[in-house]
Amino acid sequence: MSRPRPAKVVSRMQLPVPPPSDAVVLFDGNDLSQWRAAGGGEAQWIVKDGNMEAVAGGGPIYTRRGFGDIQLHVEWAAPTPARGRGQGRGNSGVFLMGKYEIQVLDSYENVTYADGQAGALYGQYPPLVNAGRPAGEWQAYDIIFRRPRFKPDGGVLRPARVTVLHNGILAQDNSEVWGPTSWLQHLPYESHPDRLPLSLQDHGNPVLYRNIWLRELDEEPRKGPAQYDTKPLVTFAPEVLDRYAGDYLEPRGGRNRIFREGSTLYVVFNLLPPIELLPHSQEEFSLRWTAAKIVFDLDAGGSPEGMTFHIGGEQRRAKKQ
Ligand code: MG
Repeated sequence: MSRPRPAKVVSRMQLPVPPPSDAVVLFDGNDLSQWRAAGGGEAQWIVKDGNMEAVAGGGPIYTRRGFGDIQLHVEWAAPTPARGRGQGRGNSGVFLMGKYEIQVLDSYENVTYADGQAGALYGQYPPLVNAGRPAGEWQAYDIIFRRPRFKPDGGVLRPARVTVLHNGILAQDNSEVWGPTSWLQHLPYESHPDRLPLSLQDHGNPVLYRNIWLRELDEEPRKGPAQYDTKPLVTFAPEVLDRYAGDYLEPRGGRNRIFREGSTLYVVFNLLPPIELLPHSQEEFSLRWTAAKIVFDLDAGGSPEGMTFHIGGEQRRAKKQ
């Protein structure tokens, strides 16, 4: 209780937030077909008026499918009128992979320990803000979760990380999860599958949920090969490079200047600082650190008459003056 509690911030986020086109919809207000009870049977929560309601004694519910790295949207509302206090008021929870809890609690004018209030990574990190709305009002969590990575021997390669927006306001900023969340204990990581069901907690309070969807994230973000060159592929004597120097005029009036300094050519596009050119051949030069290139039109003697600047799928021609 001595841990500082975050400041209250009033969110003006509008809800609901409809699922995007690539979302996996886990609850659209109709049924619990995407969910099951802890033991594997039908989920024992109530579906009413487009919402699902946690049932005291019904136990936690789990998604039928497993998920790893996700962007998750969950809308919830604490029971109204507000009853109980501290951890006894509107308590539920979003358990990522069934193990890592983002606390759901009625934290509107309800004091409890900082790492146990709404938006906390339970028992580990308090939220950065108290963005809680009054009981009965809809609230949202937008969660970005990167699951833990384990080594073949079961050790932790990378802990899980979680970012949480509570009603659109940053509550967890890429927090490094210490291990499964628990009451009064710090549990160590134990190697587990890459995909596990998401679960919602029954903590004895009839918390409402609606509009639950997620996007499965690429586990290894795509990295293309580097498209720029760092070394010239050919070298030319200064007197050859001097043939390229001069002004190149685009049809619409853009003026590009090429000049030599030492053994290097540079191009100046209008008023931009000079950019180094790396020769690949007599015709083709790339712009250092970029995927852009210049292809020169050479006359019979090997002197440029014009150039074509290539960048991002577009081309610009310019005539040498
Ligand atoms: Mg809870």
